[in-house]
This record gives sequence, C-alpha cells and structure tokens, in this order.
Amino acid sequence: MLSLRNYDVKFVKGIGPSRAEILAKELGIRTAYDLLRHFPASYIDRSRTYNIRSLQQSEANDFVSVQLRGRFVSFNTVGEGAKMRLVGLFSDGTATLECVWFRALRNIRSQLRAGEEYVLFGKPSRFNGQLQMTHPEVDTPRAAEESGGVRAVYPLTDNLRKRNIGSRLLHSVILSFLKSLRHKLTDPLPPSTLSSLGLMELDTAIRTIHQPSDSQSLQKARERLKFEELFYIQVDMLRRSRKRKDEIQGCLMPHIGQWFNNFYYQCLPFPLTGAQKRVIKEIRADIISGRQMNRLVQGDVGSGKTLVALVAMLLAVDNGYQACLMAPTEILATQHWQTINDMTAKIGLRVELLTGSTKAKQRRVIDEGLRDGTIHILVGTHALIEDRVEFARLGLAVVDEQHRFGVAQRARLWSKSIIPPHILVMTATPIPRTLAMTVYGDLDVSVIDELPPGRKPVVTLLRYDNARGSVVQSVKKQLEQGHQVYIVYPLVEENEKLDLRSVEEGFETAQSIYAPYKVAMVHGRMKPTEKDAQMSLFVSGQASVLVATTVIEVGVNVPSATTMIIENAERFGLSQLHQLRGRVGRGADRSYCILMTKYQIAAETRKRLELMTSTTDGFVIAEADMSMRGPGDIEGTMQSGLPFDLKIANLAQDGQIIQLARRASETLLDADPDLSMPENARFAQALKLISNRTVDWSQIS
Ligand code: ADP
Ligand code: MG
Repeated sequence: MLSLRNYDVKFVKGIGPSRAEILAKELGIRTAYDLLRHFPASYIDRSRTYNIRSLQQSEANDFVSVQLRGRFVSFNTVGEGAKMRLVGLFSDGTATLECVWFRALRNIRSQLRAGEEYVLFGKPSRFNGQLQMTHPEVDTPRAAEESGGVRAVYPLTDNLRKRNIGSRLLHSVILSFLKSLRHKLTDPLPPSTLSSLGLMELDTAIRTIHQPSDSQSLQKARERLKFEELFYIQVDMLRRSRKRKDEIQGCLMPHIGQWFNNFYYQCLPFPLTGAQKRVIKEIRADIISGRQMNRLVQGDVGSGKTLVALVAMLLAVDNGYQACLMAPTEILATQHWQTINDMTAKIGLRVELLTGSTKAKQRRVIDEGLRDGTIHILVGTHALIEDRVEFARLGLAVVDEQHRFGVAQRARLWSKSIIPPHILVMTATPIPRTLAMTVYGDLDVSVIDELPPGRKPVVTLLRYDNARGSVVQSVKKQLEQGHQVYIVYPLVEENEKLDLRSVEEGFETAQSIYAPYKVAMVHGRMKPTEKDAQMSLFVSGQASVLVATTVIEVGVNVPSATTMIIENAERFGLSQLHQLRGRVGRGADRSYCILMTKYQIAAETRKRLELMTSTTDGFVIAEADMSMRGPGDIEGTMQSGLPFDLKIANLAQDGQIIQLARRASETLLDADPDLSMPENARFAQALKLISNRTVDWSQIS
C-alpha cells in the first residue's frame, strides 16, 4: 500500500489533471492511497425494483430513493429562461411519473429516447398530486445490472457535484483502479496483530468497503479499517509515553514534611473521602518515582478536586519546590486563591494570586517572590504562563478545568523549569474512558468517583413556561430560608444581541418579583472588573439572586446557593447543563435545578432534558452526550491534537475498537518496544509517515 502514497491521483484512469486538482482542493485526495481511503458514507440498495403505482399509494414523506424500470412516453421543455426545465413522462405499465431536469437539458434530451427501456434511480416526491423525480439517475437496463446490487455513496461537496464528479464516477474509478492492480495491497499491520485479532486483510477490506457483497463482510471490513486508524494512534501515543517515562527525569518528592502534616492535622476541616485519598496516593506514587508525572484527575463537579490539588502542592512544597495552580477564569482563580489561603491560614504558607488585572506594583512583588523562592504556591490565570513569569524551583503545575485550556498552553508550563514540573490536570468534564484513552493516551488517569458525604443529589425538574408561576413561588420560598438562587440564560453567539436582551430583561423581572432580595447580574459582555464586582456580590451573599449567562459554568463554589433555574434549557448541551447544575448542591441543604423550556421541543431535546432529570452521574451524562451528538466540544479541542483526521473511526462510537487497539498496542510494544523487528518494519514505516505530519506529542501534557 505504501507505494500508493506516491502515486499521484491524476494518473488514476478516469481522473486526469483537472479532476485531480479539484479532488485535492475539495477532499484532500492527492494520491491513489487517499483515493482508496475515501470511504463511502453510505450504500444504496439497487437490488430491488419498485412499481410506480405502489409509490402513489404511500405517504410522500416516507420516500427513500428507489429504482424503477420502464419507458419514457414523452419529453417536453417547459418554462423560459432560468426557469426552463425538461419534463419526461415515465411509465412502467402500472402508472406514470414525471422526471424533471433543471440543468443540462439539451445534453440529457439528446441522450434519452422515448419508447426505449431505462432504469431510473432517485427519490420520488409529490408535486400538485403528481409523482415526480428530479434529476434521476438514468441507466440502460444493462448498465443498471452491471452496477446493480449494493452501491457506494461517497461524501462529496457541492463544488464537486457542480463539476460533475459524483458518487458514480468515484465508484467506477475506484473499482476499475482496484481491478487494474496487479498485486494485492500490502497490509501495514503487524502480522501478529492481524492474526491474533482475526482481522480482515487490507486488500480484502478496501475492496469490500467500496463494493460490499453482503452486510456481514462490510461490517468486518469497516472494523478492520477503523482498527487500523485507531491502532496508529494508540501505538504512537503509547510509545511516546513509554519513551518519555524512560527518558525524562521528574522532580523527586520523597518527603512528607511539616507543611503537609501541619495542614493535615491542623487545618483540614473534614476527613478526606476514600476517593480523594486514593487519588492522592496515586499522585504520590508518581512524584516519588523519579519520573515526570502527567496525570489527569477526573472528578465530577463537587467531588473535591481542589483539595486534592492542594495536598499535592503541599507535598511539592515539603520537598523544597514551588507549585502553581492555573484556572481558566479570573473569578475561578480568585476563588481558588481565597480557598487555599483560608484553608492554610494557620500554617503560614505564602500563596499569591496572579491574573491579568494584577497591578504592576504587586506584580513586581510576585516576580521577586517567585524568583527568590519565598512564594510557595502561585494561583492564577493564563497570566501564569507568560514568559516573564519565572520560578526559582517549579516542581508541580496544576491545571484546573482543563478543557478550557489549549494543549499548547499547557505545554508552555514545561518551559518554566529545567526539570519539567509534574503536571496534574483536573477536569470536571467526565470524559468517557475510551475517549480519554485516545485523546489523553499518554496521560495517566485518576478518577474521584465519590462525592463528599452528606451531599444530597440535586433534584432536577423539567418545567414548561406555563408553570412559571409555581416556579417563582418555590424560588421565593428558598430565598425566605436564606438560600441563594441562580437564574441562567443561554448565550449563543449568532444572536448575541437578542440573548443579551433576554438576560437583561430577566434581570429586571427578577428584581421586581424577588424584591426586596438583591439581584446581581453577570454576562460575557461586561468588563472584567464589573463582572467581578457583581460576582462577588453573590459570592459574599449580599445578593441573593444571580442572573447570568454561562459565564458561571465553571467551578464557582457558593454553598448556600440551592436553586438553579435554567431558562431555555433546550438550547444547552448535556455536558453544559451538567456543569451548570454542579453549581448547586454544594452545601448540606436539598438543592434544585429547574430546566425551563417552551412546550414545543424536538423529541431528541426532550430525551436530553429527561436524562438530566433522571441522573446526576456525570459519566452517564457524558456517555449519553457523546452518543447523541458526537464527542462535540471534547473532541473539538482534542481532534486538533490527533496525529491525523479520522476517516472512518469515530471516537464517540467505537469505544470497543479503541480498547482493542489499546490492548493490541501494548502487546506489540511489549514484544517489540522500538518496532525494530523485521516483521514489523512495514508498520513502523507507515507509522512514521503518519507521525511526520504530527505535532510533537511528547510536549503535550
Ligand atoms: P470540584 O471537584 O468541583 O472542584 P471543589 O473542590 O470545589 O469541587 O469542592 C466542592 C466542595 O466540597 C467545597 O466546598 C469543598 O470544601 C468541599 N469538600 C471537598 N472535599 C470534601 C470532603 N472530603 N468532605 C466534605 N467536603 C468536602
Ligand atoms: Mg473545581
């Protein structure tokens, strides 16, 4: 197969230079290799012929593409100018149907003859009671037979269609190219992997996927091709991570000293949960190993990740290192800083805050404290990774709510120290395990799968707009008990103005109906200082109601907030709803999340909202989210980090194959760590070709 990578697609029979150019531009197909790996998006079944009469009797919107066999009775050109069209009346003996062409009229007219037998293929529609088919595919019975059975439909673009490059052309070009090959396509997969997993050979798989004979073999072909894509990724990541573990030295942190002990015995306001203890042990095993830690801590909202991070940072300080904690927003960084300061007040740790709005004078104090090592922990936003920030001995960097940080930004933390610091990434977006395996293939994963005791799960209710009156009553009841309430509005960028208005209106309404309780408001259009001022009104309890857009989504901790109203809940994704809901239920009181929506919502949306009312388990929600709309956000950020675009595998749906690929890559690398065995040479070379296009994964935490 490798030589096909050097085979320019313009030399493939039926393509030529001008089509090659447009294929490259539209689909990135440059070589024969690319062409053979342009996989069908679906297949159509041409094995069955329908009759027109039966179509007349079925509901118009049930129509799928169908095959008909019959003769044209007449042709007429109707209309003028741009509206001119060719109408052919087609009869199969049971009834008639109109075929309509809007383009290439003359061409089509000259090719078709009334009275002769043809096979049509297309999607019927009903127009003024008459059955129609626009731009059907027309074949002679013989041609139809030859390409009969199951036929591939390829992903195409409008520009390709305009240039008359359609599925049929691609299909016949690919099939005849495959026929012309004198040798089997060479299979890059290691023979041991192929045989132990019983995978279909590449040659068979490629031929089958372009022209399947039955659905079972198609299934096997797809599996094999998906496996191959995912296997490259897994081997690549596993090899790099093993290599890094071997080569890169990590800061050694063997001691448990006064900082940790004093904190643990004097400051800790509650016992750690079992899950927190376990994760701390996992972190400790990393930092005493002499290797660099790269660990992802996943924990549902409210599971107490901050405390785990703090303990890890104290261990770093105990060993003479500094630590930093990076958060995605100023509000969150400030809150972390306050929490850590409060919790460690008794032991005299020096914790500083650095954000974009830190004043110049204070910055100088911080710069100095970092360089002379008197600052133990630095908390902050992106400001932390600016070049001018220099630590004396940075040993641990914690990144909170990781999904807001780009991969490149995390990588910059590395440059802060001669020995790369240990990296702890904390995320509240539970990523399904299989996805984590792919996108964080070289991170070790810890899971905090237990909430602190006494938490009552948030009661989630779906309410339609007509129930607003009773919702207002229950909010008032909460306020009377001294609790706080969030009211959240969606903010969708396409229509920022409208959204802004709904937040502002919501703010005014809330002020009038909840008076005398004070109402604060935050949205993305405010200046940071203004936002912070409003936010701190709510955090400090001066304001009882916070009307907000999703800016509050991440991390904020206000334990006496017991109710969250989410307006237009239908406009939020599942993960986002889960994140939002995580803002309540943080104290001992029973909390509520009320999803407000109009009555008319799509079935899919209703399913989503009902799932929210039935579970608070972030992992269940994340899995559902992925399977309902694809890996979405998570994948969006991460795909960019994958070594190549996935053509056939789907991170959301192919969990089992990902696991298979993971295990197979372990087996392979256990036996042949640097892929130097002759039987793996072909695979090693294919992998190299792929990773040449890749960003350097070893720099990504
Ligand atoms: P998240 O994992 O969402 O970042 P936080 O770290 O903000 O969660 O913790 C949520 C709340 O739970 C905080 O108020 C924190 O003080 C509290 N908390 C953390 N660990 C425990 C524990 N072991 N027992 C009781 N409360 C805890
Ligand atoms: Mg948090």
